[in-house]
Amino acid sequence: MRAEILDGRSHAHTVIETARARAATLRRRPGLAVVLAGDDPASHLYVKSKAKRAEKLGFLTDLKLLPATVSEMELLNVIQALNDRDEIDGILVQLPLPTQINTLRVMAAIDPEKDVDGLHALNAGLLTQGADALVPCTPLGCLRLIKSVVPDLTGSHAVVIGSSNIVGKPVAALLLAERATVTQTHIHTRDTQFICRGADILVSAVGKAGLVRGDWIKPRAVVIDVGTTRVEQADGTFLTVGDVAFDEAVQVAGALTPVPFGVGPMTIACLIENTVKAAVARQTG
Ligand code: NAD
Repeated sequence: MRAEILDGRSHAHTVIETARARAATLRRRPGLAVVLAGDDPASHLYVKSKAKRAEKLGFLTDLKLLPATVSEMELLNVIQALNDRDEIDGILVQLPLPTQINTLRVMAAIDPEKDVDGLHALNAGLLTQGADALVPCTPLGCLRLIKSVVPDLTGSHAVVIGSSNIVGKPVAALLLAERATVTQTHIHTRDTQFICRGADILVSAVGKAGLVRGDWIKPRAVVIDVGTTRVEQADGTFLTVGDVAFDEAVQVAGALTPVPFGVGPMTIACLIENTVKAAVARQTG
């Protein structure tokens, strides 16, 4: 039996409509600032679609585009100014940042109450304690997709490939908070394939096209493909593909996210959800 395809667009629609209804109860519209430093074309595309989505919902939106040469102090000043603006409820700084900038120092400068990508140490710490926090958008989107097919994760074996601060670690923390048994792997893990074969839930967040083959997957497992890699085709055009060899995985898995239109739309939807969550907390205090 072929896997159920988890369409991120339809799940994202539900998340956004719920957030929109919640935003309508606020005394003022939510405000989102998106900050990008540098000229990476993919990052430009991401921040523009994030800002556009917020704008379409009627949110106050402020897109700050800074040059690749921006100094850390200049960027910290931009963040401080956004922290001080009452009408801004959420601040997202798009990663990666130019190499002259210390990412952790920048994350630490964001007001934790406005930290809609959940990367401030306070929110990351609260998440690992299983407490209420602003949670990174992509991991939150992954969890929503997983729970759409497995509402109760108690005792499931979840394997997360990748251990970055922005995806792998928070995905693992969320799954642990849902009472799954979690194995986290990374580039130095031995026998990743063997570990994956035991997974009821398999999340891959690496960025290596076709890493996860069909025979890595336990029959009927839920497979979430976070990875995105642009691969050049014979005709010179580019295709965005995931970490999972889709055509093989679809024959084995119980449910599977496609790339594109799986996790991607959920990242934006969860940013909207987090912005409304921050706005509610700030406005109703
Ligand atoms: P990252 O480079 O910070 O982390 C990659 C992780 O994968 C690291 O922990 C590394 O140890 C591990 N890794 C590398 N090679 C490996 C291998 N061969 N086997 C096992 N583990 C290996 O990347 P990231 O920021 O976590 O992003 C991961 C991927 O997810 C990227 O492709 C990125 O584009 C994508 N992404 C997608 C979305 C979305 O909305 N769809 C959002 C964020 C990231």
